[in-house]
Amino acid sequence: MPTTVLFFLLSACFRGLVKCTPIPEVPTAILPKDTAGLAKFSAMSANIPDIAPRGTLTGDMTNVDYSDSDPDCWWTYSQCVTPKLSGLKPDVSSVPEPHTLGYGFDDGPYCGHNVFYNYLATKKQKATFFYIGSNVQGYPLEAQRAVTDGHEICVHTWSHPYMTATTNEGAFAELWYTLQMIKLATGVTPTCWRPPYGDVDDRIRYIAAQLGLETILWLYDTDDAEEGSNGVTAKTVQANYDSFIAKARSGAFNTTGAIILTHELDNFTTQAAIDNYPTLAGVFDHIVPIAVSQNKTQPYVETNYTMPSFAEYISNTTLPNNSSLSSASSLAHSSSSSSPSSSSTQVAPTGGASALGVSVPAAALALGAVFWL
Ligand SMILES: [Zn+2]
Repeated sequence: MPTTVLFFLLSACFRGLVKCTPIPEVPTAILPKDTAGLAKFSAMSANIPDIAPRGTLTGDMTNVDYSDSDPDCWWTYSQCVTPKLSGLKPDVSSVPEPHTLGYGFDDGPYCGHNVFYNYLATKKQKATFFYIGSNVQGYPLEAQRAVTDGHEICVHTWSHPYMTATTNEGAFAELWYTLQMIKLATGVTPTCWRPPYGDVDDRIRYIAAQLGLETILWLYDTDDAEEGSNGVTAKTVQANYDSFIAKARSGAFNTTGAIILTHELDNFTTQAAIDNYPTLAGVFDHIVPIAVSQNKTQPYVETNYTMPSFAEYISNTTLPNNSSLSSASSLAHSSSSSSPSSSSTQVAPTGGASALGVSVPAAALALGAVFWL
């Protein structure tokens, strides 16, 4: 096990350059000396809905007995996106603007993702990335790149479990430590999350909401992450893309735009995204990050970052076929103004001193390395 920061960084580089094996995931619970985490959980715990965990962390629902009335708005059971518990906001599963695709990718950062991020840069295309906390620990420089490239980062839990199977503390820890890791690596604190497999109910939504996280789902699925298993082949995935594209062509998104589930999990999923981007760009008028699709201009807790409104985004860019966005970083950071065009942030490629307004880097990574190893 690495015991020094140097070794940590070298180890991360080694993993990134030579192999792309997953970083071992860490079972999550609140760490005994994490006074902030303990206090935060303690403050919310009395009001967490009394809904029992169900199934297993890996999704075995064999012995789950659940009411047909879907009292907990359990997405896995009914694709419910409007919570039954009062006070919770509906999940985001579509895009209010017509002819618009909310563009997002799960399961990163992925050690080979520079090819994909380079491609997006050539298209001046921004997206939303739902990051796994343990992956950010393994590939912090890749996570930094997403922010400096102007993408939006959301949380996708620490170890990718079926969240409705977790205990209250386990659910909290999955989200809390992913937030901490993203903050340490990139300097920003997300305000959105996507449950792995879409597995969320009102208990999990409540815990997420107490951490300031809006729940993001989808209505369409490429099944790209399933390729090679469960009978899903590359052909199946392309057929799913084709079906979605055919819907767009047939006018299915004339009044409301769409979110489709895609991943940056591996070379296959990212190549599928690259292969299909030109066609998607041809059938949608606009392809935008999820925050932009919702007119959410402050994607992070830190107020010195802004994203453009939908109108600003589409006026600053000629998306997606002939982008004229002036700066790859102009959407990501505004040092003193809410106007995205006022930013002059320079992109600091992976590693080193970043020009981000929030100090990112070595010290934070060092803290992360010491804290988690
Ligand atoms: Zn996932």
